[in-house]
Amino acid sequence: MNDRLEIALYWGAACGGCDVAVLDTDEFVLDIGRLARIRLWPIAVDGKYSDIEALDDGHLDVAFFNGAVRNSENEAIAKMLRQKSKVMIAFGACAHLGGIPGLANQTTRAEIFSRAYLENPSIQSGNITLPASHSHVGDIELVLPVFYEQVYRLADVVDVDYYLPGCPPAPDQVKAAILAIVQGALPERGAVVGASERALCEDCTREKKEKKIQRFFRPHEKIQDPELCLLEQGFVCAGPATRSGCGVRCPDSGMPCRGCYGPPPKVHDQGAKLVSALSSVIDSKDPNEIDGILAELPDVLGYAYRFSLPDSTLRRSL
Ligand code: SF4
Ligand code: SF4
Ligand code: SF4
Repeated sequence: MNDRLEIALYWGAACGGCDVAVLDTDEFVLDIGRLARIRLWPIAVDGKYSDIEALDDGHLDVAFFNGAVRNSENEAIAKMLRQKSKVMIAFGACAHLGGIPGLANQTTRAEIFSRAYLENPSIQSGNITLPASHSHVGDIELVLPVFYEQVYRLADVVDVDYYLPGCPPAPDQVKAAILAIVQGALPERGAVVGASERALCEDCTREKKEKKIQRFFRPHEKIQDPELCLLEQGFVCAGPATRSGCGVRCPDSGMPCRGCYGPPPKVHDQGAKLVSALSSVIDSKDPNEIDGILAELPDVLGYAYRFSLPDSTLRRSL
C-alpha cells in the first residue's frame, strides 16, 4: 500500500517565488519527496496535465495552487485540480488575494496588449500582430490560452479549502502546513493557515507615541528611528491593515509592511482600512489637506491594494 500523500503543485499567474519558497525549505524539501508523491509540479518535476486528467476524482490528497487566475489555462487547471483533489490550498498572496498580478485590474486587456506588443521598444517597428487564442500557420492551428479582461483570486473560480498567505509564504510556514496535512492536523476548512487573528501592529514591538506627520516618505528619503513606529515617522506601513503571522518580518528589518498577508479577519477591505490609517496619522483635521497629502504619494491605489485589488470591494478600477 502506498501511504505517501499524492500531491500536485501548480503555478497560475505567478512570479515563481512561491515555488522557490517550497525549495527554500532546504533539506525539508527532501522530506516532502519522502512524505509525498508529487504528481505535478511544472517548475521542478515532469508531469503531464493528461496524467492528472486520467486520475479518479478526489485521488490527489492535496493541490497547492500558487499565482492568480489570469487566463483560461489557469482556470482550467484550477478546475481540474479541484476535481481531482481532496484538499485545495491557495498558496501565497496571488492565489489568496490576487496579489501583485491583480494590480493589472487598474487597466484593461487592450491597454496591456498595446503596451506589451505594439508600443514595446523590443518589438519590431510597425508590428501590428497581437496574440490570438486561435491562429493558423499553414494547415496547423495554434491555440493559446484566452487572456482575461481582469485578474481573479483562486476562490473566484473554485472552492478553496485553505489559504497560505504571504508573498511568498515563509518556508517555516510551508513546512508547518505540510506537516499539518501529513498529521491530519489541519484547522477548520476555510482557515488562513499559519496566520493570526490579530493585526500586524499588535505584534510589532516598535514604539507607538501617537505622533502625527506632515508628509509621507519613501524608505530612501529619510533616516529612520529604529525604535519608533514606521507609520508615525511617515513611512507607509500597512501594519494596521494586515493580518499578523509572518513574525513582523519587514518592520523588524527596517522596512514598512506592504500587506502581503492580506487583511485581518474583521477588515473587509484592506486598502480602505490602510487609507483610513494613513489619514489618521496626518497632522490635520481638514479633509482637503489630508487628501492633498495622500495625493503626494506616487501611487495611492498601488500602496493600498498592493496585494488585494481583486479581493477588494472595487475588484477593478476600470
Ligand atoms: S505570492 Fe508573491 S512570490 Fe508568490 S507568485 Fe505571487 S508574487 Fe510571486
Ligand atoms: S504601523 Fe508598522 S511599524 Fe507601526 S506598529 Fe504597525 S506594523 Fe509596526
Ligand atoms: S511584514 Fe507585511 S509585507 Fe512583510 S512579510 Fe509580513 S505581512 Fe508581508
